[in-house]
Amino acid sequence: LNTAGISDTAIAEAIGHELDRQQTQIELIASENIVSVDVLRAQGSVLTNKYAEGYPGRRYYGGCEHVDTVEQIAIDRVCELFGSRFANVQAHSGAQANQAVFLALLKPGDRIMGLDLAHGGHLTHGSPVTMSGKWFDVVSYEVSRDDHLIDMDNVRKVALDTKPKLIVAGASAYPRHMDFAAFRAIADEVGAWLMVDMAHYAGLIAAGEYPDPVPHAHVVTSTTHKTLRGPRGGIILTNDEALAKKFNSAVFPGNQGGPLMHVIAAKAVAFGEALEPSFKQYAKDVIANARALSEVLVAGGLGVVSGGTDCHMVLVDLRPKGVTGKAAENALERAGLTCNKNAIPFDPEKPFVTSGVRLGTSAGTTRGFGEAEFRKVGALVLRVIDALAENAEGDAAVEAAVLEEVRALCAAHPIYADDV
Ligand code: PLP
Repeated sequence: LNTAGISDTAIAEAIGHELDRQQTQIELIASENIVSVDVLRAQGSVLTNKYAEGYPGRRYYGGCEHVDTVEQIAIDRVCELFGSRFANVQAHSGAQANQAVFLALLKPGDRIMGLDLAHGGHLTHGSPVTMSGKWFDVVSYEVSRDDHLIDMDNVRKVALDTKPKLIVAGASAYPRHMDFAAFRAIADEVGAWLMVDMAHYAGLIAAGEYPDPVPHAHVVTSTTHKTLRGPRGGIILTNDEALAKKFNSAVFPGNQGGPLMHVIAAKAVAFGEALEPSFKQYAKDVIANARALSEVLVAGGLGVVSGGTDCHMVLVDLRPKGVTGKAAENALERAGLTCNKNAIPFDPEKPFVTSGVRLGTSAGTTRGFGEAEFRKVGALVLRVIDALAENAEGDAAVEAAVLEEVRALCAAHPIYADDV
């Protein structure tokens, strides 16, 4: 699969190894998923050859009639999926979708407000290492210390005190629902734009399993590759026609050149899949699986930020076991369980060490894991972490035994059939 016919042996071999890794490890990285064969094929198509600067019907190149069809289908499907009036499907990534919105609505030096990175926000919401942090005056809101929920009183206070021009609601490591109506009320009170970056939750929102930001936000951005289960990419949605035009101009020519038409085709395929009734069940299962995983971890003595989850993500607090995120990530990887270390709110450890790991159920659910499998995954995670708590180097025998169980679970639920 995917390597058939690639004559460049060095690359074919590396892709083959990667397929094998994905096939035999349990993917718990909350921002990843496993796309369908149709998505892979659309992305691997001849559309990669085509330049199509502009938008359907208004291109700067000839020969665009078929890519026009593809892009219009992608736009129509994503609008239907999220109930939005306008969509841009050309953003190459989530970061570029966010940048395009900033370019459309802000000037350098304007003030933006987002969830603090250390409390679950994304880099592009104002971190000093990104354009958002370098070009804008950034203020942040936080989660509360007692329940780890976004503190809407704090959001309102910071907004009233600092009068940002744009407020970002959205996160990379926040496991609970967000109150988008309350964000909009605060944005209106201070005269700010409300941008919701729904990247992590998009698939759950499409399925009606997470609060819908589209009626509340001036603009919604997203990636297409997390819970939405499409190719890597970005989208921008709005119900406001004047804003839609600004966002289109900000993507092209403002921020990008030619669109990646092969990726847009793959987005269209994924949006079509997400419109199917089976995707609603998938999203329900993703959340039920995350709750099952969370329960097992808590019963085994680990902490879970906010005490549980409303989505695909469990943010594990390792401090009860005296283990760091860095050590846990490495030990879990040795045992065939892939995840990432992640800061927890008010984390005493440095960002490269952290006291947490972020686990997600989107990819495992796609390969057919249900609650029983995720309870088993939770037990395997606990075995590795308990061994690490005993010995900072980890226990090679425990990790090898867990790896064997991981391999068996993966073999029972292959991600792609052998004959594809
Ligand atoms: N926004 C959020 C909330 C994210 O979690 C991410 C990715 O992790 C992004 C934006 C950036 O997306 P990309 O990696 O496609 O640029």
